[in-house]
Amino acid sequence: MSIKELDAKYVANTYARFPIELVSGKGSKLYDSEGKEYIDMGTGIGVSIFGVGDDEWVKATTQQLTTLQHTSNLYYTSPCATLAQMLCEKTGAKKVFFSNSGAEANECAIKAARKYAAEKKGEEYYKIITLNNSFHGRTITTLAATGQDTFHKDFLPLTEGFLYADAGDVETISKYIAEEKIAAVMLETVQGEGGVVPLTQEFLSAVSKLCADNDVLLVVDEVQTGNGRTGALYGYMKYGITPDIVTTAKGLGGGLPIGATMLFEKVENTYTPGSHGSTFGGNPVAAAGACSIISRLTEDFLSAVERKHDYIINELSQCEGVKGITGLGLMLGIETVKDVNEVLKYCQENGVLPIKAKNKLRLLPPLNISDEELEKAINIIKNACVEVSANES
Ligand SMILES: *Cc1c(COP(=O)(O)O)cnc(C)c1O
Repeated sequence: MSIKELDAKYVANTYARFPIELVSGKGSKLYDSEGKEYIDMGTGIGVSIFGVGDDEWVKATTQQLTTLQHTSNLYYTSPCATLAQMLCEKTGAKKVFFSNSGAEANECAIKAARKYAAEKKGEEYYKIITLNNSFHGRTITTLAATGQDTFHKDFLPLTEGFLYADAGDVETISKYIAEEKIAAVMLETVQGEGGVVPLTQEFLSAVSKLCADNDVLLVVDEVQTGNGRTGALYGYMKYGITPDIVTTAKGLGGGLPIGATMLFEKVENTYTPGSHGSTFGGNPVAAAGACSIISRLTEDFLSAVERKHDYIINELSQCEGVKGITGLGLMLGIETVKDVNEVLKYCQENGVLPIKAKNKLRLLPPLNISDEELEKAINIIKNACVEVSANES
């Protein structure tokens, strides 16, 4: 059986995969089983932020892998403590809880918010406001947090206690805070799965103030927007707000599974021994890799991300097949005149691998992609947006 047949026969039927089997790569290049080369404009959904087989990351992870690969949280290890220190010093968070995915990082945030509110205001204060069109994960609770009915279908009943408001609708959030017993507001700075839609400054400033004035926690889900993706270390930094909890995952591990929940001052001591945990959380190999990633997201590096953002906007906004571009940094959504599936197919056939978000083409390239490779990829994407594909002609 071919790999595609094996996969179709034995792997749970949850993914509509593209007809490509990837086997290797280096930097921004990926190779399939037929030896075809691609420029990676998706990084495994924003994960491999320094590309494939990044030398420093490989060194950091293999060094740890060949020394001590796992301990559980019954013992102290250096990569976990060092990574927590780095994240706190760079964000102002006081403590970090480590897990293995975005959904788990959000679960930890939701539990922390409930515990904080239960202790401070009473256990009836458990409700959390999230936004319509959001995405927070696939567990029963993070699905409940996800404000999109299509993800909920057939999985009811979900965890109760979530209320939804539209992005931009300060009035409804204000009303919920006044009339309901609210523990937290949880949102993404750029709705990634929702179509790469950034929140406005006005809205986020207003929500941040409402939260602070009412002792409602502000939880920012930076699973996709975090770790340099938006051109800031974390997306919320672009908005000049101070959250109470920040979650991240995807790019943090550079390709290994890791989730982090950063707890700021109010919730610094909410968790106590035994109140939360994870067997793999803070795994030394994943944490050593994350240290190598975070240490390189310097101001200079991030300004290069912004420069590449400007280049892409400049090129694509002049392209006649492009209706609009949304997003921040190197997290961009392109609304195309042609059907996005056609555009994507053309890109794949011509050696570029972007992904989709709703009806948009989504670009999440390695943050360190070279100018030459970026130019090459953008030229192919431009052609994909205007040219008629072989199928149509
Ligand atoms: C991907 C994503 C998640 C879920 O992360 P997993 O690692 O797949 O559990 C949660 N929130 C946002 C904003 C995401 O983009």
